[in-house]
Order: sequence, then C-alpha cells, then structure tokens
Amino acid sequence: MSGTFMTTPRIFNFSSGPAVLPEPVLEEAQRDLMALPGVGMSVLEISHRSPHFDAILEAAEAELRALAGIPSTHRVLFVQGGASLQFTMVPTNLLAADGTADYLVTGVWSKKAVKEAEKIGRVHVAASTEPDGFVKVPSVRDLALTPGAAYVHMTSNNTIYGTQWHDVPEVGAAPLVSDMSSDILSRPVPVERHGVIYAGAQKNLGPAGVTLLIVREDLLERSSASLPSMLSYRVLAQGASRYNTPPVFGVYLLRLVLCWLRDAGGLTALAARNERKAARLYAEIDRTGFFRGVAEPESRSCMNVTFRVPNQDLDDLFVREAAAAGLDGVKGHRSVGGLRASIYNAMPQAGVDALAQFMREFERTRG
Ligand code: PMP
Repeated sequence: MSGTFMTTPRIFNFSSGPAVLPEPVLEEAQRDLMALPGVGMSVLEISHRSPHFDAILEAAEAELRALAGIPSTHRVLFVQGGASLQFTMVPTNLLAADGTADYLVTGVWSKKAVKEAEKIGRVHVAASTEPDGFVKVPSVRDLALTPGAAYVHMTSNNTIYGTQWHDVPEVGAAPLVSDMSSDILSRPVPVERHGVIYAGAQKNLGPAGVTLLIVREDLLERSSASLPSMLSYRVLAQGASRYNTPPVFGVYLLRLVLCWLRDAGGLTALAARNERKAARLYAEIDRTGFFRGVAEPESRSCMNVTFRVPNQDLDDLFVREAAAAGLDGVKGHRSVGGLRASIYNAMPQAGVDALAQFMREFERTRG
C-alpha cells in the first residue's frame, strides 16, 4: 500500500457531532499516522511526557491563544469527559455551600447542566425559554440574576433547536460560564468576559475525547482541597493538562484544526464564512412556505440550521433522499424531530450549496 488509503469518496456530512473535519487535516493526520515527521513514531505511540508531545501541546495552546485572543489571565486545559463532565465540574469547583449559581436555560443541554448542578448546590434558573419550546434565547432584559451569584451558566449555541446567543449577555460581576460545545471558534468571542468556557471538541475542534477548558486563573482558588483530584480545576491546572495521560491523539488533531483555522483567515473571516453558509440555507427555508424554520429568526444559529417540511412522512423522505444524494446526517435530534443541517467550520460552502439545491428540488417535486 502506498499513497492515499482513501477508497471511498467523501460525501457531505451534516451530522451534529462528531462532525465533519477539514480535509487537509485528515490528510495530514493520515500522512503522519505511521510516523510523525522527524520523530519516527506515531502520535498514538509516544509518551505524553516526551518532548515530542510537549511540542504538540505547547503549539496547540499557542495557536488557540492567538486565534481566540485568550488573555494571560486565563488558563487553557485539555481534559477528558466531554462537556457533560463539565456540567458536574463547574459547580463542583465554583459553587460553595452558601452560594447560588444562576443558569440560563435554553435547551436540553442547559437543562442537563442544571440537573447536575442541583446535585452539588443551590441553583437558580435566571431565565428559561422552555415555555416557548426553546425556539429562542432569552432577551437580556428578562434575566432574573441573583445578586452575588457564584457564577452564571449559559449555553452559547443550542445544538438541538438551532438557536444561538448573538451577543454575550451582560451578567454583572459574577463569572460567566459558557458551554460553547457547538459554536466554539466559529466567530470571535470576548474571552476576557468569561470565567469559564468549555467545549467538547467533536463539533468544531477535532475528534471526540478531548474537551477544551478555558478557566480564569483566579477562579482556580475556589477548587476545594478536598475535591477528588480528577475533578479539581486547580489540580488539572497545576498539572498543565498532564495530571494524568491527556487525550494525546485528540490534542494532536485539535492542533491541526487550529492551524487550518488560522490559515483560513482566523475567526473574523470564519464568522463571515459561517454567516454566509447559514444565510444560504435560511434563505431557502424562507423562500416559500414549504419549509418552516424551527428557531425564531433573531435567535437563529449559524451552526445548526433546524427546519421542517409540511409533515413527518416528508421529513423521513427528505432524510432518505438527501442521504442517497450524498448529504448525510440531516435528521433532527430525536427529542424534537424535523430536520437539522449542522454546518460547522469545516463544512465547505459546496456542501451548503448542494443542500440548498437539494431543498429546492425537493420542494419542486413534493411541494
Ligand atoms: N453541550 C452541548 C451544547 C452539546 O451540543 C453537547 C453534545 N451534543 C453536549 C453539551 C454534550 O457533550 P459531550 O457529549 O461532549 O458530553
């Protein structure tokens, strides 16, 4: 065997995650898998304490800091356990026995975050769009924040409903904690206004198994010494992502994705590209009455475009025929049904154009 190992042509992948990765990243990983250049061993085989991995980890952090504008006040950690473990770790570290944590509830994932936090301490739901079926995010004037809250937790993009906060809400002095699993690095974000940002990598950053954690340094003091080590932000930060074996391959691949994002022009350029891609699909949804958008227009996500066709049979047909046309993963989340096109950073414009064309043709023949 030599050269490329690819025998099956790639199709367009609209999965909500794990999701499409940039092709140049997959090609580079494929090339390096037998032996890292200058190392002679695969990244899967080297010690996480070797100088080779030191270089990968340092480069990943440096790329990330430059791309996202992460200030020196914030630590960057690569951890395991997915965003779901952060639902537990955030209150475990930041919520003291006499404190209250505010949660902005905008979907299933924020509800899960609330459920875990309630096992640890006092939780106040400062806003919820559940009565509206989560088709929008709250307006800032509707937030009922607790004075002196331990932190305010939000979900920046709601993967299932296709809604997104377009601005970081003003929450006063409390540290803002944001689950950015499904829109991390899709646009510039004022990191300095956050206490904690976390994201599972498997949508916009890399493979499943690595979770990005950005924590404001002063918050590390809140981690009680009695916490289990693996659950302690302070211990993980002291270990500089290597308290135990980190997700080595995930960090390696994430670094390749970060370099690809940098070469694509950085976050401002990516945000413009992501807006263009989303606008193309929303225009198709709004063009006639055939498709219906799920999210309210002012809360629409640039990452997950959710929509419906007139009835469930047509939903199923749409999913089947789209897959047959090489457009995979457009089925809505099982909890809401309908259709969803996830168009993260790595989804090329050509994929979005192909889906828009497919939608038009579907409407013409079934409308
Ligand atoms: N938060 C959001 C916004 C998500 O979309 C997801 C996964 N789809 C999660 C949390 C859970 O992530 P994980 O599977 O990495 O625990």
